[in-house]
Amino acid sequence: MPKAIRFHETGGPEVLTLDEVQVGDPGPGELRVRHTAIGVNFVDTYERSGLYPVEMPAVAGNEAAGVVEGVGDGVEGFSEGDRIAYTGVAGGTYCEARLILAERALRLPDGVSDEAAACSLIKGLTVEYLIRRTYAVEAGETVLWHAAAGGVGLIACQWLDALGVTVIGTMSTPEKAERAREAGCHHTVLYTEESFVERVREITDGELLPVVYDSVGADTWEGSLDCLRPRGLMVSFGNASGAVTGVDLGILSRKGSLYVTRPTLGTYTATREELVATADALFDAMMSGMIEVAPSRTYPLADAAQAHRDLEGRRTTGSVVLIP
Ligand code: NDP
Repeated sequence: MPKAIRFHETGGPEVLTLDEVQVGDPGPGELRVRHTAIGVNFVDTYERSGLYPVEMPAVAGNEAAGVVEGVGDGVEGFSEGDRIAYTGVAGGTYCEARLILAERALRLPDGVSDEAAACSLIKGLTVEYLIRRTYAVEAGETVLWHAAAGGVGLIACQWLDALGVTVIGTMSTPEKAERAREAGCHHTVLYTEESFVERVREITDGELLPVVYDSVGADTWEGSLDCLRPRGLMVSFGNASGAVTGVDLGILSRKGSLYVTRPTLGTYTATREELVATADALFDAMMSGMIEVAPSRTYPLADAAQAHRDLEGRRTTGSVVLIP
């Protein structure tokens, strides 16, 4: 029977267990997929810890790449042997094989390897909607991107740099700063040692920013608002340091008629058309060389708990992948 990393209760990485699971034949509208590479994302840790509720027992994980090995009735456009990647199927990706809804599957072009897809699907689709649709960043603008050496962050640095946008990126170590600079981050700020608000004031000559992308959450929320010019947009899209709660709306008026949004990838890729258009933009960016992604580290599927420890312990840079 195929193996899967499951959790039967929420908690720390130790709740992840390697179990055997049944995988049947694909039903109508479904594909059976054998995974070749599985992306690790911070959202996987929110589900495991209980911050984002899921039904239990749950198979962890939210994205994977692999090969179609069975096609259910009524499925059009996919055949056995196709290389695909997918996300947005309510978890369950840390496993050797499974069934998925064909409507969430994306055929991988020859120029995108399975590992590259597992590194970049959630993270790259997220960057696409954040910089092109949540706020359409224009050449010549300057933005602040927190955790710029993380999985999402390194893709954002490359994409924004290619668009002619100046990126101010925060990170916790000089090694991460070096990696972000290689990816196109123009100004690196070690926010564990210096005030990122002061640095943004300095770099922008007090003009401040039209938009801030903040996935760190609780620790950076208020400082991020201080980096915005009047009527600027705060894009709060993650909680790596804890969720932002109990916000007094008056803070937005006091800091200059600010806007705030708390977007999710699910909303921005809710329809098949949006999903395919977003993925096409990402795959084009990868195949043209605008974005280069490779796992900074791979772990055997059985070591998923260690991958979570390293991600939550801020020991990873870029994307991390599990190999089944
Ligand atoms: P990352 O690889 O970016 O890892 C998270 C990073 O956050 C860490 O490496 C660390 O970087 C930084 N960080 C800051 N404070 C803490 C803390 N207290 N504990 C742990 N890490 C901290 O993860 P991903 O690329 O998978 O995801 C990045 C963010 O984007 C996450 O918050 C995720 O939830 C969010 N996201 C949101 C989506 C959406 O649609 N809303 C979709 C996809 C991702 P450093 O050491 O440099 O500070």
